[in-house]
Amino acid sequence: MYPFQAHPCRWYVENGQRFPVYFVPKEMIEPHLGLAFPYAKDGPRASVRKDIPARARRWIVKHELYHLRDKKKRWREFRAYSITAFRDPIGFLLFCVHVLRLRLRVQ
Ligand SMILES: [Zn+2]
Repeated sequence: MYPFQAHPCRWYVENGQRFPVYFVPKEMIEPHLGLAFPYAKDGPRASVRKDIPARARRWIVKHELYHLRDKKKRWREFRAYSITAFRDPIGFLLFCVHVLRLRLRVQ
């Protein structure tokens, strides 16, 4: 398996700060859909599965970007889900539909 740096990367700007998001194969981060590394050695970065449909993936990217900027220690998932869902409710809905499809094994 190639390291995350070998996979397609896109830079996102959040509040003037630039963050790389790597689009990686499913096997690399399963069972997660996306992962944030706010304290990575060479700077904050995130990985998101590239096999996810674009409409759901866009929301996961926003969720991971939220994690990268979140410096608080507690309730991290709660904040990342609720604030990202509030800012992009349609994207959140599409994300939920995707997760339900995965769980029910409908494609
Ligand atoms: Zn999260």
